[in-house]
Amino acid sequence: MSENSHTRIVPLIDQRSAGLSIPDSHTAGALLPAQGQLRDTRGRQLHDLRISVTDRCNFRCSYCMPKDVFTKDYPYLPHASLLTFEEITRLARQFVAHGVQKIRLTGGEPLLRKNIEILIAQLAALRTVHGLPLDLTLTTNGALLARKAAALKSAGLNRLTVSLDGLDDRVFRAMNDVDFPVQDVLDGIAAARAAGLGPIKVNMVVKRGTNDNQILPMARHFKGTGIVLRFIEYMDVGATNGWRMNDVLPSADVITLLQQELPLLPLEASQPGETAQRWGYADADGKHDPAAGEIGVISSVTRAFCSSCNRARLSTEGQLYLCLFASQGYNLRELVRGESSDAELASAIAHIWQARTDRYSELRGSEGAAPPGEGRRRVEMSYIGG
Ligand code: SAM
Ligand code: SF4
Ligand code: SF4
Repeated sequence: MSENSHTRIVPLIDQRSAGLSIPDSHTAGALLPAQGQLRDTRGRQLHDLRISVTDRCNFRCSYCMPKDVFTKDYPYLPHASLLTFEEITRLARQFVAHGVQKIRLTGGEPLLRKNIEILIAQLAALRTVHGLPLDLTLTTNGALLARKAAALKSAGLNRLTVSLDGLDDRVFRAMNDVDFPVQDVLDGIAAARAAGLGPIKVNMVVKRGTNDNQILPMARHFKGTGIVLRFIEYMDVGATNGWRMNDVLPSADVITLLQQELPLLPLEASQPGETAQRWGYADADGKHDPAAGEIGVISSVTRAFCSSCNRARLSTEGQLYLCLFASQGYNLRELVRGESSDAELASAIAHIWQARTDRYSELRGSEGAAPPGEGRRRVEMSYIGG
């Protein structure tokens, strides 16, 4: 058995439920109250919260939930261990009190979580420390979007990201590995636009030799539609996708390819800490043509953005992860289901974030980021969301 195939069959359940101990903030004297902003050891201010609402998915993208690992016998989380909507909202409220302004629902496939609109409505009612509505968004594979778009909008969802890895039906069916037709996702995007959900972004993970022939067709298709297409470098998240550096097509190569047909020029970041580098379509005079729009590249592998990483991730069962590449999280569910007051929850979050040192992508390939050995396996993307 090769090293790789050995890695792919080890069940992940134990590592998921093991949690890091929460710094002891439960004694009255040590309580850290929410003050509207929170910085970690590297000065990074908590701004975004990603919440995974299910670890299940109706796709089997090979880079995320490969079919041979995520079989019907895979130990998905039992319903009782999932955070309830009330628990999620209560935790989200503490994060917002610490300065979180943006919440993204993800998964697994978030639209598979029953009555997700109820959670959206609860989160949409929260206000930032400045009294403003949250930037509330969701990432979906789009399979159920045509059916759900109107309900998501009326529940209070602001905007949406749809993952789509190609336009060619054959390539798309192979990428999702459940033979799902691309037209249904395109119909979902159309339904989302018709429902008034926007701006819409489309994320395409690029895997060299698998869907790189879809880069130009995708760019042509979305140019001038108001939808921002973003190309994401295939990442070494989790422990099951058999990642190899050779499969990564660097963003610089994506830009070079696009430039041959569709002239682009670099645009300023629209907000600090933005993970995507923006490129605008140029007009005949070489100036940005806003009507043609823009694309983005997310160079998670070739250009680490740890120095501005301001995201926390809450897993489906309430573990708080400080990095996409972490092997363990902090068990907040234990607090939320126990006797802890809101002040104690807020204090625990403060202690955890203030001690944060994570910067995996900056260290990737160096000794500091050596692949974790048995017992320290990285958590799966489908468990904490992208
Ligand atoms: N199921 C939803 C979807 O696909 O949009 C939400 C969850 S999915 C884990 C979130 C995002 O992570 C998707 O855009 C997906 O393409 C991306 N993703 C998953 N595995 C990845 C990997 N190995 N490298 C880069 N992006 C990845
Ligand atoms: Fe499912 Fe999204 Fe992962 Fe694909 S990327 S398997 S759609 S969770
Ligand atoms: Fe943030 Fe971790 Fe990614 Fe660095 S590697 S950008 S710390 S999630």
